[in-house]
Amino acid sequence: MRRAVTERLMARTYMCPMSGCWLFCGAINSKGYGVLTRRLAHRVAYELLVGPMPAGMCVCHRCDVRCCVNPAHLFLGTHQDNMDDMTAKGRRNGVSAGTNNRHAKLTWESVNAIREGYANGDSYAALARRYGVGPTAISRVCRGQSWVALGGSMAPAGARGIRRGSKGGGAGAVYQPSIAGASK
Ligand SMILES: [Zn+2]
Repeated sequence: MRRAVTERLMARTYMCPMSGCWLFCGAINSKGYGVLTRRLAHRVAYELLVGPMPAGMCVCHRCDVRCCVNPAHLFLGTHQDNMDDMTAKGRRNGVSAGTNNRHAKLTWESVNAIREGYANGDSYAALARRYGVGPTAISRVCRGQSWVALGGSMAPAGARGIRRGSKGGGAGAVYQPSIAGASK
């Protein structure tokens, strides 16, 4: 049973080589969390791959990617810890540098995950639902009209539909999400 659930979880998980996130590709609820066997997928992942979740605790994301189920990105916290963590990361009031603008709902982590998802065939609409932003915002991210990293590259190599004749992705365009994301 336990093994079967683990297999179902992993069969629906895409490991993003850039962010290290394990993106859950199954059902996603309205808040952007993965759902497996009627439970939150990251909680299922934590229990299967880390250990039991004590009563009253919740599983929080270090990476802020709600559909991520990488046990290394998950940690146990109280509800208050989760709130404090969100405040520290600027998710509650949009106060962190770099995300304190109209893109406040997105982070470099989620932007990378969105581009990965798009490169793997997810639609703008599906990504918009998953990350709680509008399809236009997703389109701008995927086409490199927003969240442009240092070096000017917009999307990982292999992303489809960037634009015909694009010079992006050449040797000079080095994607550097870690550097750009460090501007906290
Ligand atoms: Zn993650």
